[in-house]
Amino acid sequence: MPGRPFLQIPGPTNVPDRVLRAMDRSVIDHRAPEFASLVKGLLPDLARVFKTEHGRPIVFPASGTGAWEAALVNTLAPGDRVLAFDNGHFADGFAKVAADHKIFVDLLPTDWHRPVPGKMVEEALRDDTEMGYRAVLLVHNETSTGVRNDVAAVRAAIDAAGHDALLIVDTVSSLGCMDFRFDQWRVDVAVTGSQKGLMLPPGLGIVCVGPRALAASERGGSPRSFFDWRAIVRDNEAGFFPYTPATLLLFGLREALDMLAEEGLDEVFARHRRLADAVRAAVRAWDLDIWCKDADAYSHSLTAVVMPPDTDSDVVIRRARERFGLALGTGLSKVKGKLFRIGHLGWLNELEVLATVAGTELALAESGVTVRLGSGAKAAESAFLARETVSP
Ligand SMILES: *Cc1c(COP(=O)(O)O)cnc(C)c1O
Repeated sequence: MPGRPFLQIPGPTNVPDRVLRAMDRSVIDHRAPEFASLVKGLLPDLARVFKTEHGRPIVFPASGTGAWEAALVNTLAPGDRVLAFDNGHFADGFAKVAADHKIFVDLLPTDWHRPVPGKMVEEALRDDTEMGYRAVLLVHNETSTGVRNDVAAVRAAIDAAGHDALLIVDTVSSLGCMDFRFDQWRVDVAVTGSQKGLMLPPGLGIVCVGPRALAASERGGSPRSFFDWRAIVRDNEAGFFPYTPATLLLFGLREALDMLAEEGLDEVFARHRRLADAVRAAVRAWDLDIWCKDADAYSHSLTAVVMPPDTDSDVVIRRARERFGLALGTGLSKVKGKLFRIGHLGWLNELEVLATVAGTELALAESGVTVRLGSGAKAAESAFLARETVSP
């Protein structure tokens, strides 16, 4: 299909040309000084994106799923118990990786339309009088539903219960999109990947590790080798890795971190908010429902759109792809067919959002869903116009 493809799934996201150019170079020797200076510059700047002075970013050649595994096997041992929440496809996936490692997971059911209630966390931890839970697993932004969890509220619940469980947070689709505060929320491990808010191709699994998690990994953890972060922490001191890193992706990461710093994290978050508000205005104009039923918990990375009864979101997704080269996200696991997802995260602007909204609207109409043509695009434009007229 001619023209630029529209990759509007909630990750992988569009890779900026600047990042592509930065990776378009010869691979260098990862045991040479030039590489060491790249790494020594990268790690503190990456820490800034997590908003931490105490946490250490650790980069694996992996995906987000690999970073999940790294977080778990370094801090927990087979037989340990953790508290987790059935709050969406990714929350369940994270819990499954723990269970695969023979960690006992208490997976509490929650409403997939809403964030995990702080009260539920507090009660579960208060009931745990033996301090059996070693960790709480939370997904900051649930990419399957477009519901954002309140990490500060979960931290407050852990504190209120006086519990010492580690707080392990998946930030795969929130880091670089929505505010995340590693130090302030006293997160012990944050997990992310390269291909969403960090605007890189897939290929890096990243964890940020706080002092308590580091201590837990020194004391114990599971049998591990590739994902053992101790050797990486040791070699990173000199700017190196114990095995071959994804050299060119790290050059891309250098550029992406520069771009985030140039725009400023606050502006990056405000832009995500602005684009998300416009998409939500379009969904309302179509008279369709936003899956997330708590406006305070709207994700600014993606919007999950509920299909009318007796319609199949996969029909719309196929139509958008085949007719317009527009990639939309499918409904995952138990919401398959019931919703589609519009990704609006990463390197994205107003005009791309308008095109995405217009293409989605056409795909809906062509799939037999009753939407007024132009209504979504108009609502999104109006949202942008209103913004412009209120700001000085
Ligand atoms: C994308 C995503 C993952 C999985 O990452 P992979 O890179 O596909 O392994 C995990 N958690 C969340 C919240 C995600 O959005």
